[in-house]
Amino acid sequence: MKCTAIVLAAGQGKRMGARTAKQYMELNGYPVLYYSLKAFQESFVDEIVLVTAASEIEYCQREIVGRYGFGKVGAIVSGGKERYHSVYQGLIAASSDTNYVFIHDSARPCLAQDILKRAFETVQKYHVAIVSMPVKDTIKIADEDGFVVSTPKRSSLYLMQTPQVFDFQPIKKAYEKLLAREEEALASGLEITDDAMVMEEFGDYPIRLCEGSYRNIKLTTPEDLRVVSEYLKEL
Ligand code: C5P
Repeated sequence: MKCTAIVLAAGQGKRMGARTAKQYMELNGYPVLYYSLKAFQESFVDEIVLVTAASEIEYCQREIVGRYGFGKVGAIVSGGKERYHSVYQGLIAASSDTNYVFIHDSARPCLAQDILKRAFETVQKYHVAIVSMPVKDTIKIADEDGFVVSTPKRSSLYLMQTPQVFDFQPIKKAYEKLLAREEEALASGLEITDDAMVMEEFGDYPIRLCEGSYRNIKLTTPEDLRVVSEYLKEL
């Protein structure tokens, strides 16, 4: 069984409010992107496709992949405007004979090996494995004026994390359908923020969740930096 990781690092990370994109910020002596690549390099995954901005390909090749010897990185390709465009570029660059793809945000550097193992077991049974955790807080749906419209039952709510793992051909086909109907999808108000949504809307398999970790957080705003730095020390 061949596994490919698609590591996404083509975003600008505007919510961090820093000059350097968050995937290149240094945490405990290494760039954030280093940690996800290391997790996959040390795992059972066979190849890694790294997706970055076109202007960063050379830097990543030299300063991250070359410098730290991430030999499983088979391709570094340029991403697109939205996350889903970047994922598609990664899917195109993956080996055509791969069986499973692990799509992962490089902004989640605290990726532990037990998460990868659970996701692999789950995807082999269910074709889809979405790493996620139950929400701890009450979540409310609000309208544009800031008034609550409804309160979904907390016990049915989960935070979606990455990696999101799929049989390769079905997720690639779902992405092809999305891109063929992109204008229509956007016009209908669809906001695609993860890969599971692409399978939900354009694919055939039900979305099976599997256990992630409350430590597998996404670096998004400056307050996340200290917490992630502590978790990384204990990985
Ligand atoms: O912006 P957000 O935090 O949701 O991004 C999640 C991940 O997707 C990040 O690792 C980011 O680098 C990546 N991304 C990308 N291409 C984009 C937007 C985001 O690879 N166009």
